[in-house]
Amino acid sequence: MSYAAMLSALLTMGLTVHLVQRGMHRLSRCALPECGNAFADTTRNGRQRYCSPACANRDAVRRHRSRHRAPASEVG
Ligand SMILES: [Zn+2]
Repeated sequence: MSYAAMLSALLTMGLTVHLVQRGMHRLSRCALPECGNAFADTTRNGRQRYCSPACANRDAVRRHRSRHRAPASEVG
């Protein structure tokens, strides 16, 4: 590989890293199992867990129900 080609490859790699870090944000996966959509987490603190408010709502409803229906065997 020539020096110019190596330099070009390094620059391309650096540019890619730059784009990934600055432009694409974090890629996450929806926390709702039956959804599993990949989404770009655009929140500053990176705490977005669902691809949409609808998924967040569905999971909240399910957690609420499972809390009421869960058997007491896990207590203790
Ligand atoms: Zn989702």
